[in-house]
Amino acid sequence: MKKKTTIITLLAGVFLMLAMVLVNLIVTATHHNKTVWATSTSKSAYENVMVKTKEATEKQYRIALQYPVFKQASLNKEIDQYVKEKEISFLKEMKQIDKKKLKKQPASLRMTFEIIPDNAGVYSILFNEKAYITAEKNRSVNEAFIINMENGLLAKAPDLFINPEKASRALHTPVEIKDAGLYVKNNSIVFLNEDKKHKGSVSLHRAAPFLKKEWRDQLTAAPSSEAVTAGKSVKKIALTFDDGPNPKSTKAILATLKKHHARATFFMLGSRVEQYPALVDQVVQEGHEIGNHSWSHRDFTKLSKQEVQDEISRTALAVETAAGASPITVRPPYGATNDLVNEVIGAKPMLWTIDTVDWKSHNPKAICGIVEKEAKDGSIVLMHDIHETTAQSLDKMVSSLQKQGYELVTVSEL
Ligand code: ZN
Repeated sequence: MKKKTTIITLLAGVFLMLAMVLVNLIVTATHHNKTVWATSTSKSAYENVMVKTKEATEKQYRIALQYPVFKQASLNKEIDQYVKEKEISFLKEMKQIDKKKLKKQPASLRMTFEIIPDNAGVYSILFNEKAYITAEKNRSVNEAFIINMENGLLAKAPDLFINPEKASRALHTPVEIKDAGLYVKNNSIVFLNEDKKHKGSVSLHRAAPFLKKEWRDQLTAAPSSEAVTAGKSVKKIALTFDDGPNPKSTKAILATLKKHHARATFFMLGSRVEQYPALVDQVVQEGHEIGNHSWSHRDFTKLSKQEVQDEISRTALAVETAAGASPITVRPPYGATNDLVNEVIGAKPMLWTIDTVDWKSHNPKAICGIVEKEAKDGSIVLMHDIHETTAQSLDKMVSSLQKQGYELVTVSEL
């Protein structure tokens, strides 16, 4: 009995000692890893934004983080997380460096930001991260968030786009969108290089098809503050091609348009988009616009609201998947429309002013003749890129229009 108690006491003692050592270890570890922060909050130039500053000075590193605090919890959650991730990855990188090296030259992380207001509650938050780990490992990175302070919506700049890579190529952005510091101002997206120098801009109008719908609506909803373009006005005309794409004739049309530096609009059928995604991508990459011409070319006025909705959204999704751009305008098959159809489309359907009857005549000379006779400033020409005869009519048609001083633009640019 006595023996047993002694053993238990002994075991308990050993256990207690082990536990104490363990606790001590944890405390030491925590103490060594813990960064001591000095934090403060101050006012910014904007009524609804405070500036939070978090600083730490340790033997091996220095951190200074400055970031905005908004009234909306949803915005703060995302920004806090972004800044926290920067801090964590900096500390992680630093741990891989020889401690002696760090004692000589401490590592540092500095985050600063700038707020650039645009219209209607939209603000760009431009972060700059300066990280110095060692002389070989240091960086300056610009990253942007676009936020709406009114509804609490936020996106990291590349996430504004359906497909940042395809948008970069089609829009010829001066910096790859995925690496860009950018901001939105005066109906333009302004791109910055590493040193925050202005690298060029793309108009929101031009970028609109490449933006995700929720952001397209917000960024383009603002009343235009764009200055009215001064100088002489150029006569404009929009060539449109329905029912494609077609691997042979659409390609021939693209080649002719390229030759003349002309742009056009292709009202595509979703079912054909799905069949020829690479061709759809090419159309967008060459600067043309894609319109929505339904999935299966049925008369919208004979369909239910839901069926019309499906025809349009299924096609839009196929175009987005193929080309990273959305069709902004809808042309109902046969131009057949009514109040219900218009309600689903949500805008005026994009019809035409010149009918070439190309599907009937199959005669390049006749097709050209109609366009030459009826062309005037603002005309929208209806053709079909599924007929080779239409493709054959194009070279002469474009030459003749350009000779008359017309600029060939997409329907959205008229
Ligand atoms: Zn059609």
